[in-house]
Formats: sequence, C-alpha cells, structure tokens
Amino acid sequence: MTSPRAFQRSAPWRVWRYWGLILIAIMAVGLDKKWGVLPYVFMSLFVLIWVLFSAPTRCGAVTRRRGKEIVYCWNNSSGLMLGCHLPQHKFQRFTRDWWNTSWRDRIRGIWTGTPAKLATISGVVGMLTGIAGIIIGIWDLQKS
Ligand SMILES: [Zn+2]
Repeated sequence: MTSPRAFQRSAPWRVWRYWGLILIAIMAVGLDKKWGVLPYVFMSLFVLIWVLFSAPTRCGAVTRRRGKEIVYCWNNSSGLMLGCHLPQHKFQRFTRDWWNTSWRDRIRGIWTGTPAKLATISGVVGMLTGIAGIIIGIWDLQKS
C-alpha cells in the first residue's frame, strides 16, 4: 500500500514542470499551420523563460571549495538561473561571488546533472523552432 506521502511525491503536478517541452512540441507541430510571426516570437520567449526560470534542474550552487575542486549543490531547483530553496543558493547566479568564478566552473555549475543538460538542449531546439516559425511567417507575409 502506498502512503499518502508517497502519493504526494508522485503527484501529477511534477509533469507540469515540463510545460516547456509541451510548448516546443506545439511549436514544431504548428510550423506548417501558418500562425504568423507574432505567436512564434511569444512562444520562443516563453521557452526561454522556461529554460531559465522553470525547467526542472539541479541547483548547482557552489557549496564548498576543496582546493581546486568545487562541490556543487545537488538539490532540485527551477530553471538554469535559479538555485534551490536555500536562500543563499536561490540568487547565487546574480551575486558577485558567482561571477568571479571562472567560466569553466560557472558552466559546470549550471550544467550539474542530466536535467540541466536536457533543459539546455530543449531550449536550443525550442529557439531554433521559434526562429524557423518566424522565418516561415515572414516568408508567408511576403508571398501574400
Ligand atoms: Zn542549492
């Protein structure tokens, strides 16, 4: 028998954190539907917001430095720009401390774990689909 807690953990709302992927799918399907330029501009923007602030990722904030080795936080978080529930981590990406670390460490921090890579790849795919949609939209405008 599953306890109520276990049920809560697998609650369907978790699926909704992937709404960006659904949006990208809608964009891809709509490419030949002649929706015009504006919907694709907005959808590309939403995909970007999703990747940066809403996609399921790992926190990736720097928790400790062991000599040259940096230990990153592994808590679940939302988007590539925001950290986990810990206040010091939440906005670490916006602090001077974080910007003083090298690019290599920064990128390693952002790309902690598979979910972050998945979010990045879907973000790139979403952007390309958006650009394709915009180009097709402009093309159609010129034809008519
Ligand atoms: Zn954290």
